[in-house]
Amino acid sequence: MRQPSARSLNIPPFIVMDVLEKAQQMEREGRSVIHMEIGEPDFDTPECVRQAAIESIGMGETKYTHSLGLLDLREAISEHYELRYGVRVDPGRIIVTPGTSPALLLVFAALLEVGGEVIMNDPHYACYPNFVSFLGGLPVYSPVFAQSGYFPDLDDMAGRVGSETAAILINSPGNPTGAVLDEKILEGIAGMGVPVVSDEIYHGLVYDTREHSILEFTEEAFVLNGFSKLYAMTGWRLGYVIAPERFVRPMQKIQQNFFISAAAFVQRAAIAALRHTETQVQEMVRTYDSRRRLLIGGLRNIGLPVPVDPQGAFYVLVDARHLDSDSYRLAFDILEKVGVAVTPGIDFGAAAEGHLRFSYANSSENLTEGIRRLSRYVSEVTHSDI
Ligand code: PMP
Repeated sequence: MRQPSARSLNIPPFIVMDVLEKAQQMEREGRSVIHMEIGEPDFDTPECVRQAAIESIGMGETKYTHSLGLLDLREAISEHYELRYGVRVDPGRIIVTPGTSPALLLVFAALLEVGGEVIMNDPHYACYPNFVSFLGGLPVYSPVFAQSGYFPDLDDMAGRVGSETAAILINSPGNPTGAVLDEKILEGIAGMGVPVVSDEIYHGLVYDTREHSILEFTEEAFVLNGFSKLYAMTGWRLGYVIAPERFVRPMQKIQQNFFISAAAFVQRAAIAALRHTETQVQEMVRTYDSRRRLLIGGLRNIGLPVPVDPQGAFYVLVDARHLDSDSYRLAFDILEKVGVAVTPGIDFGAAAEGHLRFSYANSSENLTEGIRRLSRYVSEVTHSDI
């Protein structure tokens, strides 16, 4: 009997989904679970965005669009980058995709030959190496450490650049660290003579600081962005790439073959998200910020060290090595014993082993209850060690 391909067998699972599925099974069995594993806003999509989609469907916008995306949306994205970062982006350099995840596929498909290397930090977003490997490329890791605020070590990164390097991949604000890279670091990375792929999906979700786009420092960059996080639109599936001009046609052909286009009414809704949600977004950011403070303080109080205060996204990375050096085992043990779902650090690379990632895309009441349950877990584990 024919077996599934090595490519499909070898792709690792997205561990956070394993935790979520186990948590949901426990909930079906009547157990209460506090969810701090998944990176999904608990807010509803803003009303004007939902209305824009409904109106669009009402007008019959239910067909394929241009494979690059609606020009109106690409103009709105271009305007957004100009207003927020002062950079000019020709709408002809923007490709709208059904989520940021497909955008990652397009970018690496256009950049990688077999054996091509992509330099990325460790820890990193769980799926990055899997996109690269799936396309025949090789992830090359440059570790980042709590002592330097999880900021990249420019010398280490530069030392890994070689003849096979296809790109450097960065993500600021970062998942899972919440680190927001400053101008000096971005300038340094932009100056390494290699295309930079900058995942800017958490842009806008910053606290006490300001984020920068890689386009402020170089045009030889691929910006990935999407609507899932800032506008609470995970289920709508919409993202985009801003690419150097010579890459647009190759990526457009991949989109035509694999995805055709993103949904028309979702693209209309995204225009409303970019142009009419400033107040709602500010309110969500304020709420995330107060949850961030609550969670960091609460975790530290119960003896769970947060080595670096995250300044962006909606995650807190905790050093849990004193409880168990195996983060996978620890996360499932916490889930089973006290009903709190968290993501094992190992999902984000070897450098995050022994750590746990907490998401604060959940209400303050739930976070408080989660901390209460964790406190019980920590004291039981500590007690049983004595
Ligand atoms: N990049 C990062 C860093 C993410 O955290 C996520 C979602 N977890 C994505 C990309 C993909 O987002 P989407 O496909 O929903 O746009």
